[in-house]
Amino acid sequence: MEKEWVLNLQKQFTKVHRVIFPIIVIYILIGRLVFDLELEILPMIVFLVFLLLEAMVFSLKKTVIPCLYMLRYAEGAFSCWAMLNAGEFRYSIYLLLLVIFTMEYFLIFDIIDGYFRTVCLLSVSVPLFAFILIQNIVIKTIGGVLLSDLCIALVYLLVMAFTGEMIARGINSSEQKLFAQSRLLESINETNEELRVNQEKVKRANELLAVQKVKLQTANMRIENANAQMQIQNQIMKYISSSLEIGKLMNLITESIEKEIKVDVCAIVLYPETVGNKKLLYKIKTHLNRNFEENLGKAIEGMCFESYVENNFPYFDNTVDEKRYGFLGSSLMGSIMIMPLLQDGRRIGVFFVGYPKYDFFKDNKQFFENIVSQFLIAITNANMYKKMENMAINDGLTNIYNRRHLMKMFNEAMNEAILAKRPISVALFDIDKFKNINDRYGHLFGDVVIKTVASLADKYAQEANGFAGRYGGEEFVIVFPATDLEAAYKTVEKIHSEIGQTQLEHNGVIVHITASAGITSYPKTCSNPGELLNRADGAMYYSKEHGRNQITIDSDEVRKESMLK
Ligand code: GH3
Ligand code: MG
Ligand code: MG
Repeated sequence: MEKEWVLNLQKQFTKVHRVIFPIIVIYILIGRLVFDLELEILPMIVFLVFLLLEAMVFSLKKTVIPCLYMLRYAEGAFSCWAMLNAGEFRYSIYLLLLVIFTMEYFLIFDIIDGYFRTVCLLSVSVPLFAFILIQNIVIKTIGGVLLSDLCIALVYLLVMAFTGEMIARGINSSEQKLFAQSRLLESINETNEELRVNQEKVKRANELLAVQKVKLQTANMRIENANAQMQIQNQIMKYISSSLEIGKLMNLITESIEKEIKVDVCAIVLYPETVGNKKLLYKIKTHLNRNFEENLGKAIEGMCFESYVENNFPYFDNTVDEKRYGFLGSSLMGSIMIMPLLQDGRRIGVFFVGYPKYDFFKDNKQFFENIVSQFLIAITNANMYKKMENMAINDGLTNIYNRRHLMKMFNEAMNEAILAKRPISVALFDIDKFKNINDRYGHLFGDVVIKTVASLADKYAQEANGFAGRYGGEEFVIVFPATDLEAAYKTVEKIHSEIGQTQLEHNGVIVHITASAGITSYPKTCSNPGELLNRADGAMYYSKEHGRNQITIDSDEVRKESMLK
């Protein structure tokens, strides 16, 4: 590197020589032509030879530097000789050349190093002093100039030494600056590289963080979902253990699933007679518009889910195309589930859920299955409770109210009638000669007769917004709340005639039955509601006494007669 730098510099000098040497030749010629000085042929030739030698040196492949040392030294020495031999006119030009060549010679050396500079100076001073001595002492051409030559030589050497020092310092400081700059550049580059690496690391860490963030968010969502699911199940469990009202439980399930799981729609449908419901029972919870809810309600009443659960398997669609489902209308849904509610292998209803996103039931199937099984437990409990309640209030044989419940209901109706100042009518039926039926056809057939009369009484009582109960063995009471005597009588007549027309078959024999009835009404025939049952009984007794198979309306005459007995 260093050598290359030296060579390049020396090449530049050579180029300068190609200008300077011809100028010197011209200068010598001018001296001859203008000032009539002696024509110095030798320097002219020597400088031309130097030009040739320089060209030759640079055409060498190796040993360029050693040859350059010799050449520059030779050029300096020749300048020195020429300067000492020249007259006043050319003295300064050769001195200038001497300075230039010496500098060029210097610059081949490592000028920064003081040792080399000293070697340099000593070597250049050798020809200088040698020529001065030869000139003044041996040849003695120009007497008395020794001192001035020596002075010039010393000044020249001092100037050279000083210039060399200055150049060295200059190079040193500029090198230092250059070095410092390159160090700075290097450190900047290093810092930049470090920054880039760190940036890369930060970028990668950020990417990792982003991935972890997404994973965390997903995990969080799962936890939240699981939490919500657990909460719903807890709520349902709590509700099941504290209440048996299926309607309210349906509300709670649909509402909490819609709110907590954020489904679009949740509906539970129960078929008639599931929990004593006469009609289809359903609950829909949705945050979609009312129109959707109304349409879905209509579709449910039209049994829209039936075709999806025909085989009693749950139906899932995790990539819903709403065009395929009429009951979804125009609402956009991602996933739907239609789960049949099965009890003892019998389908008792349907559970329907719609979620806005795709693939929802891939992960959440189990939760809904759990909810359904809890709900089915609740239905079983409610059914059992209903059965027990029925057993407690209904008569085992006829399934109409037993005497205890009949009395309870009658008392409530009576109190209401008193408070609301409304009429209330009561009728009592007794099957005629029932003992004979039992005796002739057996007790089992007697039971059939009792059941037949009871169901007739119940049917017509309900039609008239009243209720019937078994008062005793083959005696039935019908209560007509808020009904006056005339209206009640019509119903009693219907029951009485229907009993009379009933034909029951026993072992190929048609058995006819009749019944006797008594009717009374508050306030028309009985001013004291507490006596209503007694008065109805009295009127019925009157019927028995007067030939059976008839209806007696309570009156003072009837009362008097029954009191006499
Ligand atoms: P009357 O026309 O005067 O009413 O004559 P009756 O034979 O019906 O007389 P009574 O009302 O006193 O008879 C009631 C009979 O009903 C007595 C009892 O053996 C019978 N009986 C009561 N409970 C049942 C029952 O659950 N099943 C059957 N098969 N018979 C019953
Ligand atoms: Mg009787
Ligand atoms: Mg009887």
